[in-house]
Amino acid sequence: MNIILLGPPGAGKGTLANKIKENKNAVQIATGDIFRYNISNETELGLRAKEYMDKGDLVPDELTVDLVWDAFDKIEKNNSQDNIVLFDGFPRTIDQASALDKGMEERGQQIDHVVYFDIDEEILIHRITGRRVCPNCGATFHIENNPPKLEGICDVCGTKLIQRNDDNEETVKNRIDIYKSQTSVLIDYYKDKGILISIDGANSPEEVFEEFCDKLGV
Ligand code: AMP
Repeated sequence: MNIILLGPPGAGKGTLANKIKENKNAVQIATGDIFRYNISNETELGLRAKEYMDKGDLVPDELTVDLVWDAFDKIEKNNSQDNIVLFDGFPRTIDQASALDKGMEERGQQIDHVVYFDIDEEILIHRITGRRVCPNCGATFHIENNPPKLEGICDVCGTKLIQRNDDNEETVKNRIDIYKSQTSVLIDYYKDKGILISIDGANSPEEVFEEFCDKLGV
């Protein structure tokens, strides 16, 4: 089952993806995580992507689409028992959505569901600026809503938590503007295809996961 998690930055896509992976047979393709991995390993892709990411701009499609297919084809080859593939943070433009449709068709596959996180803008800024992430295992926390047991330390693996470079107020506003101008058109794109499911992104991670399971019947 191929599922897209669609929503603005800070809506809870990554948090839901982690919950699904903990509880179901699922694997995630998160383009933002792939770029950050390349940045920390100082690859050529990482250096090019960083320029855009630090400003909150979108990385160009020619650097994005191929790496999604590399990840997808690897999953198909290695982990055939993972029956849910989660696209997190991709597609973000109509061109990316068309490329995804085309590539899926070429592989005899399809996008089964698009989970849209419905959420107010004020909540996003608070969530993102307070977000802290584990650079080792990817666990996410919030300094007020979901603090780690020990301040600044990952509950899961004990690594020192960091704040993402692009999680500051100025960059967040740009990321939200870009979401509105380039990504939100995908809501109608997938609604027209009859595969869009809305969930309330303002709810707690547990409630969001429950709504996801109920609405998808998984
Ligand atoms: P995320 O981790 O999903 O919040 O993504 C962080 C940043 O990575 C975004 O602000 C973009 O700069 C870049 N990025 C992630 N996914 C994409 C994508 N599908 N297309 C273009 N840029 C992306």
